[in-house]
Amino acid sequence: MAEKYAYIARCRKCNGIVMTTIDDPKYKGDVAKIIAEHINDGYFIERVTVSSARKLIESNCVCEICKSDGT
Ligand SMILES: [Zn+2]
Repeated sequence: MAEKYAYIARCRKCNGIVMTTIDDPKYKGDVAKIIAEHINDGYFIERVTVSSARKLIESNCVCEICKSDGT
């Protein structure tokens, strides 16, 4: 079984994770929209395996900028 992938958005300031979303073909349009919004907001987007995304979630962004983002 192939490993599933997810997209993560990283904060430029603290390098923490502000968003993760599964790269699911069923929700391709939604995923593309979420990614585009986060790029517009100035986050770094990375595509990683779901298992690494789970580990990375532990390093959530905690800085003020991202808290006020509301997403
Ligand atoms: Zn941050």
